[in-house]
Amino acid sequence: MTQKKVVIVGGGYVGFEVAKALDGFADVTLIEQREAFVQPPATIRALLQPELLDQIILPYDRLLMRGRVIRGRASRVTQSEITLEDGTIYTADYIVLATGSSYAAPFKPEGNSIKDFREASAEVSLQLASAKSVVIIGAGAVGTELAGEIAAAQPDKDITLVSSDNTLFPMYPAKLGAQLKRKLERAGVNIVLGQRAENLLRLDRPYAGSVKLTDGRVISADLVFPVIGSRPNTALAQTLSGVATAPSGRIQTDKWLRPSKHPNVFIAGDIADIGDGMTIVAISRQNPWLIKTLKQALKGQAIEDLKPYVPWKKAPILLPLGPKIGNSWLFATVGDWVTRQMKGKDLFISKYRKAFGR
Ligand SMILES: Cc1cc2nc3c(=O)[nH]c(=O)nc-3n(C[C@H](O)[C@H](O)[C@H](O)COP(=O)(O)OP(=O)(O)OC[C@H]3O[C@@H](n4cnc5c(N)ncnc54)[C@H](O)[C@@H]3O)c2cc1C
Repeated sequence: MTQKKVVIVGGGYVGFEVAKALDGFADVTLIEQREAFVQPPATIRALLQPELLDQIILPYDRLLMRGRVIRGRASRVTQSEITLEDGTIYTADYIVLATGSSYAAPFKPEGNSIKDFREASAEVSLQLASAKSVVIIGAGAVGTELAGEIAAAQPDKDITLVSSDNTLFPMYPAKLGAQLKRKLERAGVNIVLGQRAENLLRLDRPYAGSVKLTDGRVISADLVFPVIGSRPNTALAQTLSGVATAPSGRIQTDKWLRPSKHPNVFIAGDIADIGDGMTIVAISRQNPWLIKTLKQALKGQAIEDLKPYVPWKKAPILLPLGPKIGNSWLFATVGDWVTRQMKGKDLFISKYRKAFGR
């Protein structure tokens, strides 16, 4: 019997794992613009330990046993076809769009070149090594971890972390932000709360310059890191008829992660506005649901008869400040040991190397 075709666009955290799980259950094609997967949580420490790049750039050649990974950029999608920029068309019974998000360099590759990503990371790593002062604009997970990693590896630097909020991680119980603040300050990081940068020269990469804050203060630094969040890559999903973009910039879905009237087209991860954050933690809940749902659909069950997806009420978060210390919220605030064991020590590098056959 011929297998049903599943085409997945985007080989990030959603795409690679869904493709791998369905390999064999269906005829799987994964379309990805880059020759390798890059693991963002470790791109922060790679600025301090450039040799890590070889561990976290993982080619797709050993991902699938039966299906295929096609290198190309998808530009159009319908209910049954994906068209690449070069005009190649792939037909599908089920489609998953997981085109993810972009981030300021050097934390995720820009476009499709891994060589450019390596060069951007190496360049910023050198700039950082010679910088005496660093200002980090944005105290989300990336900014906070970056401050912690720099303080741990290069403790002589003058590091300032700026947040527009009045506490760190205000969405979580106050203890989490308070403990992180205390540990960062003990490591020498100057934390500025309740202030916005008013004159960021660029949002796409670090630069040398000065930053004017809302209260008029000007901070000059050898390196200003703009780390103010991910931008969802929704252009492909928007070519589907009937999709709607939420105020967040992400694509709206029904309860089964479908963005349009087509019952066989799904989205997940950073592009999907389904009540989860733009995190791997969110994807660690979405992927098992998506894999199970697709397997049942492949057996002929109607999607509407299956359980809808339910997002995290409050997702856990792991925040290492370098390899040794940190805090996390795992339904309670936990400290250095748990954060180190679960993330800080290894940054999931061995887990993903194994998934990619390394
Ligand atoms: C520095 C950093 C650290 C992070 N650390 C953590 C962390 O510790 N924990 C956590 O939970 N989250 C973390 N995140 C967030 C996490 O990386 C994202 O939530 C995750 O990458 C989203 O996965 P995704 O599969 O939706 O998309 P992505 O990982 O963005 O992957 C999308 C893929 O689609 C490909 N693509 C895009 N458009 C096309 C197209 N048209 N055709 C073909 N291919 C295409 C891209 O090349 C990419 O490979 C971090 C993010 C950053 C930037």
